[in-house]
Amino acid sequence: MNERYSRQILFREIGKDGQKKLLDSRVLLVGCGALGASHAEMLARAGVGRLRVVDRDFVEFTNLQRQTLFSEQDAKEHLPKAIACKNRIAEINSEIEVEAVVADVNNSNIENFIKDCDLILDGTDNFVTRYLVNEACVKHKKTWIYGAAVSSYGATMTIIPFESPCLRCIFEEMPGAGSAPTCDTAGVIMPIIATISAVQVTEALKILTGNQDALHRSLMQFDIWQNDWRKIKLNKPNPECAVCGQGKFELLDAENSDFATTLCGRDAVQIMPPKPTNLDLEKLAENLKSIAEVKQNEYLVRLSVEGFELTIFRDARAIIRGTDDESKARSIYAKYIGV
Ligand SMILES: [Zn+2]
Repeated sequence: MNERYSRQILFREIGKDGQKKLLDSRVLLVGCGALGASHAEMLARAGVGRLRVVDRDFVEFTNLQRQTLFSEQDAKEHLPKAIACKNRIAEINSEIEVEAVVADVNNSNIENFIKDCDLILDGTDNFVTRYLVNEACVKHKKTWIYGAAVSSYGATMTIIPFESPCLRCIFEEMPGAGSAPTCDTAGVIMPIIATISAVQVTEALKILTGNQDALHRSLMQFDIWQNDWRKIKLNKPNPECAVCGQGKFELLDAENSDFATTLCGRDAVQIMPPKPTNLDLEKLAENLKSIAEVKQNEYLVRLSVEGFELTIFRDARAIIRGTDDESKARSIYAKYIGV
């Protein structure tokens, strides 16, 4: 066994057998922002053999205060976070296979992302995606680890479908848009990211090495500024739960996922093409050069026009900054991308 892992193998609960299990595992990271980047780094250093990292966004300077994997160069190049993560992990542990996916996680792809994974880690920043992940994980009986952090507060819970309560058992109603604080409205400090991601990754190591007895089996909540830490014990799933009790998968079975999504607190809207499309980015950049200054890399094209900042990805998805009005964003999309 590689001496890289010697200190972890000395830790009795993991040992040689546990290390081998880690190397043979595949974990899905849903989102590669602050929590996700921290998950990726810890899991790669621990020797979790395969990581599938899915993220829809690109690195910006405002991320660098807490998103430990990323560099100034990544922000300058506007690299997609999944790609920047893969590049950095290759420097940390070249034995780990990272599958970087630049995409929005939605009901057309979530089941494909989870089905061959041993475990799913939540690094998302919104409840719609979490409820979708919850439905997909209950449907496919996959264990997932919820995590959220904003301001100096965070929460985490490990969800083993039909054995422990699912997200919907605990939070029956999804918070309405704009009702919950986000990192973009309330800010966030890095130590709460480190705390929540540390608990999530520890739970992941327990699960992947067969140490289920050591799981915390609770909803853990921390306010690291207010010095308030609590653990709410979880019992059985709620038989009345719409998802794990009644098997209703409303988000998973919805006809269409929304074409336009407001990115909460960011003054930006994401637009998805109605059909999956593979865009010729070079050609698009060429066409747009006549109307604005265009920046591009292998993964995306960016331009500023009419006071909006457009970032267009290869799958024809676009993030339009400068508005939270979905219809305005749709019309900008139609005007300049028009697919
Ligand atoms: Zn449930």
